Amino acid sequence: MAAAAPQQETLDAFEAAKGFMPVDEGLALYAAAVEAGALGLPLLEVGTYCGRSTILLADAARATGTTAVTVDHHRGSEEQQPGWEYHDPTVVDPEVGRMDTLPTFRRTLHQAGLEEHVVAVVGRSPQVAKVWGTPLGLVFVDGGHTDEHANGDYEGWAPHLAEGGLLVVHDVFPDPADGGQAPYRVYLRALASGAFTEVSSCDSLRVLRRTAPGL
Ligand code: SAH
Ligand code: MG
Repeated sequence: MAAAAPQQETLDAFEAAKGFMPVDEGLALYAAAVEAGALGLPLLEVGTYCGRSTILLADAARATGTTAVTVDHHRGSEEQQPGWEYHDPTVVDPEVGRMDTLPTFRRTLHQAGLEEHVVAVVGRSPQVAKVWGTPLGLVFVDGGHTDEHANGDYEGWAPHLAEGGLLVVHDVFPDPADGGQAPYRVYLRALASGAFTEVSSCDSLRVLRRTAPGL
């Protein structure tokens, strides 16, 4: 059976969107989201940015009859601030003088025709996780890349993942020469918990299944 693939309109919108999700990893994320969507539970993303990966989750949510939820404070991660490597001056709110990726995200989602499949939550990941009360089919961790943020995402959201649900972690680089180590440490931590089993990987994207309670 061929792997599930997004609609062409979604792929076009994905490739046109600002962001940090390469195509191959995006397709792997989509396949995981469709598999997880079959559980009939929401698909949750930490790290909306401008919606590049969100539209893939939204297409998977549409295909499986569930909803994609995406969480971001929209003020950018450390490495996206002015003067840093991944800064984009076009996503600064001139009135406030700080990054604001929410307007670009909303345009991306609108252009993809997927607005009705997404609930966007503006806030800090641990704070949102604290008030969250619904079991999730998928948790996609793609937020801040410091240990504090990556661990906060894991600790906040992994307990909400239903058994059989998928934990997907982006930017996992076992070799420090390839990138920061916080997502890699979270991936190792999830495996060491005994609650997860690795399902697949594509470049820096890792897919784990929650196979036991005990978090
Ligand atoms: N998934 C996106 C990329 C996300 S970049 C894509 O496909 O392009 C990481 C995002 O995480 C940034 O937008 C940043 O604002 C957000 N972020 C970082 N730390 C966060 C936190 N603690 N709570 C909420 N959002 C956070
Ligand atoms: Mg990423």
